[in-house]
Amino acid sequence: MFGAVSSAFLCGIKSVIVRVEADVSYGLPGFDMVGDLSSQVRESKERVRTAIKNSGISLPAKKTVINICPADIHKQGSSMDIAIAVAVLTAHDEIPGDALGDTVFVGELGLEGRINGINGVMAMVSAAKAQGYKRCIIPKDNISEGSVIDGITVYGAETLGQVVAFLKGEDLIEPTKCCAQEIFEEETGRTGEDFSDINGQTVLKRACEIAAAGMHNLLMIGPPGSGKTMAARRIPGILPSITLKEAIEISSLYSVNGMLPGGKGLMAKRPFREVHHTVTKIAMIGGAGRAGEVSLADKGVLFLDEFPEFAREVLETLRQPMESGKISISRASNHVDYPARFMLVAAMNPCKCGYYPDLNKCNCTSSEIKRYLSKVSGPMLDRIDICTETSRVEYSDIVSTGKSESSEAIRSRVEAAHEIQRKRFAKYDYSFNSAMPSSHIRKYCVLDDRSSDYMKKAFDHLELSARTYNKTLKVARTIADLEAAENISLDHLREALLFRGLDKKYIERQA
Ligand SMILES: [Zn+2]
Repeated sequence: MFGAVSSAFLCGIKSVIVRVEADVSYGLPGFDMVGDLSSQVRESKERVRTAIKNSGISLPAKKTVINICPADIHKQGSSMDIAIAVAVLTAHDEIPGDALGDTVFVGELGLEGRINGINGVMAMVSAAKAQGYKRCIIPKDNISEGSVIDGITVYGAETLGQVVAFLKGEDLIEPTKCCAQEIFEEETGRTGEDFSDINGQTVLKRACEIAAAGMHNLLMIGPPGSGKTMAARRIPGILPSITLKEAIEISSLYSVNGMLPGGKGLMAKRPFREVHHTVTKIAMIGGAGRAGEVSLADKGVLFLDEFPEFAREVLETLRQPMESGKISISRASNHVDYPARFMLVAAMNPCKCGYYPDLNKCNCTSSEIKRYLSKVSGPMLDRIDICTETSRVEYSDIVSTGKSESSEAIRSRVEAAHEIQRKRFAKYDYSFNSAMPSSHIRKYCVLDDRSSDYMKKAFDHLELSARTYNKTLKVARTIADLEAAENISLDHLREALLFRGLDKKYIERQA
């Protein structure tokens, strides 16, 4: 007697659809599982046997063999438990097996027969849909994320007994309605933290706008309490509005990590990941079926506060995703690419106490300042496009009642600048000024004679390197795009250079 059903497991962040076959025959009673399975998958035989018994179904003692194919992929996780149980019950003729060809079963079984929630359901349901399946039976705990995928009928089940009754036609499980659009509209319509909350700090806000407009990396240097974190948190809100497709891609990653906000199946906002400086390399880049911080920040902002405190080894790992927009993780059996297209925003105090160069307040010795700043190495600074200073909040800013510009107003300018860049780079494999290779800089960042002279002086004065020279031109291009100007003017260049002198003022002079 034979039974087969479809299931899915997570391989990195991708879901792989598998076929679970069960064969039941006379012979020495036993339960064997084959098909390149991890120990976690093998343990499922104990869960399945006990769950079937505790669901009130008694099966005759027979020889049972489970095969999960394709055999050439290493299977892991507990998401195939319910499918194994259904395949076994089908082979025993407890469930009619003829109507299961269009259904994917995922869920972990508890010993009492309960179906426990699992990570990555969203990816599994979309893989099932992509392969033409009509129905998905998933844990009830995961129903909100399962119902985000349109075009496939999703049922949330609580127990194995309920699934058996449903498949026998004795009981009904209501299919869930796809509600992605509704959640998306509700969530994106909700206003969050807004730039209008920040009074004063015009230079800082301008730096954030330019950074968002060209997807440039940003470093903020300033004393504690000067609004660095406040500003960073508001940057996702001035990036172009998220689309439903992007929201599903982001949510799918959070689903893999089991990090979707409770009750909601959809992350409808650009991510903002604030990472503590004690973060490990693995937590930063991900691995072993978990997305790292660089991927959780995909399509949003990765914020590193206290930048000099991060381990150099951790910062080094950012190089690959910053260049390619993805992170490749190789394991013995599998190779997985995780998306990691984020905007890096870093913040730091100018010294250990935080008040340098205010010599009335800073009590650091010059060697302490030197040691503190030297933690930020040249190669790290090389990756920063825009460096800005935040100043102490003034009394007039606090008492000011005039509302500052809203995030929405800033966002509309950023969106327009993005559109210009998309058109300009349509035939290339990148979309933003920040990603322009140096051969294209000569083509798209042409300076007139006056600007060239100015740049030459600045180059000597600020002791720019070839790399920082290029970065300055890219930022100037973005400033011009914000004004929809075809050519970079002297004013655009001057402003771009303002964001370059600071790393020198604070860091290079000390080094
Ligand atoms: Zn100090």
